[in-house]
Amino acid sequence: APLLSIRELGVSFPRKEAPSTTVVEGVSFDIMPGEIVGIVGESGSGKSMTARSVLRLLPKSAELSGSIRFRGREIPEMTDEEIRDMRGALVSMVFQDPMTSFNPVLRIGDQIGEAIALHDRARRGRRALRDRVAKLLALVGIADPAERARSYPHEFSGGMRQRALTAMAVANSPALLIADEPTTALDVTVQDQVLSLLRELNENSGTAILLITHNIAVVASLCRRVIVMYAGRVIEDGPTDEVLTAPRHPYTWSLLQSVPRIDQAGTRLTAIKGQPPDPATPLAGCKFHPRCPWAEQRCGEQEPALSPIGEAHGVRCWLPMNGIAAAAQ
Ligand code: SF4
Ligand code: MG
Repeated sequence: APLLSIRELGVSFPRKEAPSTTVVEGVSFDIMPGEIVGIVGESGSGKSMTARSVLRLLPKSAELSGSIRFRGREIPEMTDEEIRDMRGALVSMVFQDPMTSFNPVLRIGDQIGEAIALHDRARRGRRALRDRVAKLLALVGIADPAERARSYPHEFSGGMRQRALTAMAVANSPALLIADEPTTALDVTVQDQVLSLLRELNENSGTAILLITHNIAVVASLCRRVIVMYAGRVIEDGPTDEVLTAPRHPYTWSLLQSVPRIDQAGTRLTAIKGQPPDPATPLAGCKFHPRCPWAEQRCGEQEPALSPIGEAHGVRCWLPMNGIAAAAQ
């Protein structure tokens, strides 16, 4: 059974005297236990909003539709208390600003210890908790971990805070970890360390990971499956090696055309010609049609559904590309 199952997820923001702005629509996908799935897309594609929906971190004014089940239970229907209980199993790491993730007046080690104690079935005593914190800090490559645990967040460098945050997120070997842009603010060495830590966590604890990024290189190195989002929709979903070498959606293909080398660390998606549609202005048909070199009449009239096109591969396009031809380009 899937660990996380999302069906027809929609997120919109109502406006006064105007149609609401839809930022996510018809998003469906599953994450199996132990799976590492990447979501890629430009900023504004709805990838962070999708993650925030799962974690119930949407702005108050957002209207949510569809179903989000974690271990068979509807997340949108859970009480705050049920959500708190679930936090040890379903955790997030939002890495964009590690400084704001720690309380500035508490020691790093105490904060990590508190995170462990909150969901600690073993009910460790203080000393055992301190040992566990030191082990976790050592695991993320912090030297003199017992000593360092007594530091305050401002006494850590950006890279060290990032690692400490990773230690806190993985402290309880969660069943699902949602990581939004885990490497954006990091130098290449720390990036690599954080990514290998995620890989280790997956291998040793079977933690499933949903990785939200615009870095294709990160997806290529870590994710077995990749979901491509555009204008709030999933437009392609499939095995990473297939999607990256023989994309079937023209948007995925365009994205890859703009990446000089997939295996290059730090490679970012650069903007392709034209602009994504403004979510405040309804657009008929396929959301990519104004930018698509292959658009034909029906593309501007009717929106295609995400349809299966191979083994575990789906594409939202009236004229899916021939994977072999695209790869030969
Ligand atoms: Fe291009 Fe039409 Fe496919 Fe949209 S549906 S990506 S416009 S070919
Ligand atoms: Mg984002």
